[in-house]
Amino acid sequence: MTLQIFGLSVSPGVAIGRAVLVASSRVDVAHYFVPRERAAAEVQRLVRARDEVVAELISLQQDLPADAPHELPALLDVHVMLLQDESLIGAAAVWVHERHYNAEWALSAQLEVLARHFDEMEDEYLRERKADLEQVTERVLAALSRQNNSAAERLAAPVMQDFAGEDALVLVASDIAPADMLQFKRSVFKGFVTDVGGRTSHTAIVARSMDIPAVVGAREASRLIRQDDWIVIDGDAGVVIVDPPQIVLEEYRFRQRQIQLERERLDRLRHTPAVTLDGQAVQMLANIELPEDAPAALEAGAVGVGLFRSEFLFMNRAGQSLPSEDEQFEAYRAAVIAMKGLPMTIRTVDIGADKSVDRPGSHEARHERSLNPALGLRAIRWSLAEPAMFRAQLRAILRASAFGKVRILLPMLAHLSEARQVFDVLARAKQQLRDAGRAFNDVEVGAMIEIPAAALILDGLLRHFDFVSIGTNDLIQYTLAIDRSDEQVAHLYDPWHPAVLSLIAGTIATANAAGKEVSVCGEMAGDTAFTPLLLAMGLRSFSMHPGQIAAVKQAVLRCEAGRLAGCVAQVLQSENPQAMAKQLFEPVPR
Ligand code: PEP
Ligand code: MG
Repeated sequence: MTLQIFGLSVSPGVAIGRAVLVASSRVDVAHYFVPRERAAAEVQRLVRARDEVVAELISLQQDLPADAPHELPALLDVHVMLLQDESLIGAAAVWVHERHYNAEWALSAQLEVLARHFDEMEDEYLRERKADLEQVTERVLAALSRQNNSAAERLAAPVMQDFAGEDALVLVASDIAPADMLQFKRSVFKGFVTDVGGRTSHTAIVARSMDIPAVVGAREASRLIRQDDWIVIDGDAGVVIVDPPQIVLEEYRFRQRQIQLERERLDRLRHTPAVTLDGQAVQMLANIELPEDAPAALEAGAVGVGLFRSEFLFMNRAGQSLPSEDEQFEAYRAAVIAMKGLPMTIRTVDIGADKSVDRPGSHEARHERSLNPALGLRAIRWSLAEPAMFRAQLRAILRASAFGKVRILLPMLAHLSEARQVFDVLARAKQQLRDAGRAFNDVEVGAMIEIPAAALILDGLLRHFDFVSIGTNDLIQYTLAIDRSDEQVAHLYDPWHPAVLSLIAGTIATANAAGKEVSVCGEMAGDTAFTPLLLAMGLRSFSMHPGQIAAVKQAVLRCEAGRLAGCVAQVLQSENPQAMAKQLFEPVPR
């Protein structure tokens, strides 16, 4: 039966494929294809892991102490029975043979199918067996991860991304943490759907950086969509169509082709300088999450990186401690070298709110307890609370500056005292490097303007910093008191709100008047709906996902910055700034 599910569009385009449902807790299960000739061996891995767990359970049963609760042997019997039932391992083997999923993926896909059957059972006792099924599956997944060949298979995974003849796959989950999303960056999935999340949640941002269609905040999606259902993700409208009729599929396939043609057309602008009709040069920078993203930034025609979200280096570390200075240095150096002399702006860690690290350390624990993490120990507050960690990051960044043009960007400043503390820590980090005879170059230091307080004390901040970058994602969140990752208030998250626009306009004007570089690195920079207005406000530096550069550049090429500048006041004073901007900034016909 065809079904439409509405959510929030976060990444445009159309994806058509079969649904892969992933439960949040198992989101780190490896997903890759196994070539046809290795399918039998993969099934063997599955059977071996199952047999290992059965043996484990039987020996557990035999070793039960005499005073063990009498339900325990019966429960272990149920677990062994579930494992030996063909509907688990036998059916998972079918996923391996027919869809070429690796063993872990096949098993978790089958778990989702069976879990639904259990949910639909009338009998309460049987319904409750779902938890047992989940437990035994987790045990088999653990046994699989202990098998030696799994690491090698994972490494081979990217090679198999384009496994011939496969249906495209789209990922459906209740929620995906930003760290997990990152793991899917180079995965097989052609689109994403999640039940929760807002447009500028970090999960949505990573999805957008992958440049594939995504819908978040689709509430019931993971309950309504079933494993292997055909679905269409309309990333522009924020709609997911489940089991679409043929005619709808044809229509979307047509749109996919048109989008592809449009992309190819825009691609031709890649190396065209971004200059307005009246000759104003505009800087197109890229936002990246990992050093490996740097080549894509160059490829897209970026003239530098305006925001490297370094916190992603601190995630997915499987319980290990935070990255050492040397590990960070190598990552930053790789990113700097990849940019071939173009500037690399490294933002110091922005841990907290919807981004957490695995480390079970004191601050993380404190953060977990925090009632309102977006207002808690986040970003620069986290760094200043851990001076040794902060110094290590600064030393690593400074050392990378010996290999290219590096700039440091500090997130979430609100107080001048924080700026002073930062420069003290930086001075110490530099002295430590000098004492150790380590090379580094001069680096510019910039502040993110993402808290209204920072925008309002900009004059003071500009005395300390070389440049500023406006983080509109947080600036909107903190100006309007709207949690950016909460889909329930997503309708109130309004970049067009006059208060937001006036803080942005004021920041650009003040920085320009002080002769300091100002850019926007929040999601507004990559949205062409805002390009003319930001140019009109005097912005000449935009930082965005590489995939957005060509479209924004096209918008820049069509604008006459001088003519637009006179219209800003009208937009800011309007009751409906969005409508007013549309009316005033219609592109000049060529
Ligand atoms: C922002 O807040 O606009 C920004 C660029 O930082 P992040 O999205 O990582 O919070
Ligand atoms: Mg931010």
